Amino acid sequence: MGEGSFWEGGIDTGPVPEDGSAFDAIIVGGGPGGAAAAGYLAMAQKKVLLIEKGVWPRDKVCGDAVGGKSLGHVAALGVKAKLEETPHFRVNGITFSSPNGAEVNVPLPEEDIAKLEAGYALPRVQFDWLLFDRVKDLVIESGGSVIQDGNVKNIIHHDGVIEGVEVEIGKRSGIVNSYSAPWTVGAGGYRCPVAKTVVEGLNNENMVDRMHYCAGFRQYWKGVKGCEGDSGSIEIHFVDTVNPGYFWLFPLGGGVVNVGIGMVLGEMDKQKKKLKALQEDVISNHPLFKQRFVDAEFIKGSGKGWQLPFGSPRKGKNMQPRRVFAAGALLVGDAASLVDPFSGEGIGNALVSGEMASRHIIENRGGVEYQEELWGLLGPELTNSYKMQQTSKRKWLLNWFVRKAGKKPAIQEMMTEMIASKEAQGNLHSKWFILKTLLF
Ligand SMILES: Cc1cc2nc3c(=O)[nH]c(=O)nc-3n(C[C@H](O)[C@H](O)[C@H](O)COP(=O)(O)OP(=O)(O)OC[C@H]3O[C@@H](n4cnc5c(N)ncnc54)[C@H](O)[C@@H]3O)c2cc1C
Repeated sequence: MGEGSFWEGGIDTGPVPEDGSAFDAIIVGGGPGGAAAAGYLAMAQKKVLLIEKGVWPRDKVCGDAVGGKSLGHVAALGVKAKLEETPHFRVNGITFSSPNGAEVNVPLPEEDIAKLEAGYALPRVQFDWLLFDRVKDLVIESGGSVIQDGNVKNIIHHDGVIEGVEVEIGKRSGIVNSYSAPWTVGAGGYRCPVAKTVVEGLNNENMVDRMHYCAGFRQYWKGVKGCEGDSGSIEIHFVDTVNPGYFWLFPLGGGVVNVGIGMVLGEMDKQKKKLKALQEDVISNHPLFKQRFVDAEFIKGSGKGWQLPFGSPRKGKNMQPRRVFAAGALLVGDAASLVDPFSGEGIGNALVSGEMASRHIIENRGGVEYQEELWGLLGPELTNSYKMQQTSKRKWLLNWFVRKAGKKPAIQEMMTEMIASKEAQGNLHSKWFILKTLLF
């Protein structure tokens, strides 16, 4: 996080469009989901209005790991080369540890590493700046507009059809503009106002299910032992006190590390836990980590919490993981509850759903089709990840698995394959496959 880097400056988003202007699509939220939707629509020459509540540079609480799944979209949106010229950490493996302290390192597929497609870790303030800045250009070039410091306060709808938004221009300015479009994309994260209208307002359905929502807490540290360098492994630790959930160390390069902890909200309620205190305890007292933090320095002001809406299937619901459409509106990313319930990754699915939503808008297809295509594509891996999250509640099984994996290269290969190919994840639930790999 070099001081004075260009992504720490502002982004000029041009003039605010006149009150009452009409667009082909309005995108609410300028994170990865909104940037992808706006960028792909603009590349198809649609007149887009992209609205972001924050002012650039803006932070987003995250683990900052951008997985291989994201890179195709980062490239298609024209950001990959520029991003790779800025400092980042190249991920080439994942280290796991189990509650009893056994460790295993799983290298990512060599082919992906060789092609530089295994993924990176870099602060979201930098990643999102690069994405938004590029998409801003695409939107303006195709005749659209971009607003920052614009808080979408109200979703305009008549007879169940979403027709536009009301935006407060500048904090406490009292200026509220209305804009209209045949399509509004909700990309405002876990508290997205479009998602609230679609799920709760128009359909009287439940938005937050605490057994499918996760709380996350993140801090930045400098000088944690074993996290030096600009490439290597990210670390996921299934510590005893955080179950189901995990403690992570994601190096960002230049000696800076994203350190965090995540746990399902419903489990925190049951176990009466607080993440900040849990993290302090792990850092100061856990035998695997306390030595590593002895000379480390906490970066002041970087401790923040946020929520992760998981994409795990909800029992008894016919729209999975949650309703993602209304007439005139589609939801993407966290607003559509698409975070992987095992790994906590959500950037990749935000980009994937942003692209998919843009395609449905360009082809003017219905929301039901979007819901079906989205769950058809992501449902199998989200369901598998949910099974893995449930399995990880059994500490003895995690201990046994990680100890075995530490000794048997065949299991490490299986895990590499699982991370690389989401189809291979299905194998984890084939009892024969597991028995064969673990025992022989
Ligand atoms: C602690 C933690 C760790 C995580 N670690 C990882 C990780 O390592 N890797 C990974 O892939 N994912 C991780 N995730 C998940 C990831 O951060 C999200 O899934 C991802 O940011 C979703 O992108 P999005 O565009 O849908 O939403 P967001 O990134 O939340 O963007 C939403 C945008 O909408 C704007 N907005 C909100 N309301 C309004 C409004 N009313 N008007 C206008 N704009 C609005 C917000 O300001 C924001 O810019 C983590 C999440 C947390 C909380």
